[in-house]
Amino acid sequence: MREKLARFMVGRNGSDQLSRFVSIVACVALVISMFMDTDARMAIWFLAILGVIYVYFRVFSRNVYKRRAENEKYLRATANIRGYFKGLRERWRQRRDYRFFRCPSCRTMLRVPRGKGKIKVVCRKCGTSFIRNT
Ligand SMILES: [Zn+2]
Repeated sequence: MREKLARFMVGRNGSDQLSRFVSIVACVALVISMFMDTDARMAIWFLAILGVIYVYFRVFSRNVYKRRAENEKYLRATANIRGYFKGLRERWRQRRDYRFFRCPSCRTMLRVPRGKGKIKVVCRKCGTSFIRNT
């Protein structure tokens, strides 16, 4: 069975970030639609089903080149947003050991060790320094 599926998927696009994103949106939409009135629910169901069809189309598509290009476009368009959440996740993971400050002049995020008292933070990008309590 596994082998059969593997053979079936040869030369096809398979799952990628764009497909995963669309399927998550469709799932979330279906959950939200449960709390809506009938008309809105039908509309959201319809859109979610279209989304699922689109995902299957992309996963099984043989035009890998075009699907890759779409995925690249999606990744480029969402690079800032994904970077923002990645930064949040990183900061949360390091919250015990580090404090994070934004440079007041160039907005770069700076990381300093926790528990050093009042220290002068020097921006590694633009050289601006400012005093912060760690
Ligand atoms: Zn700076």
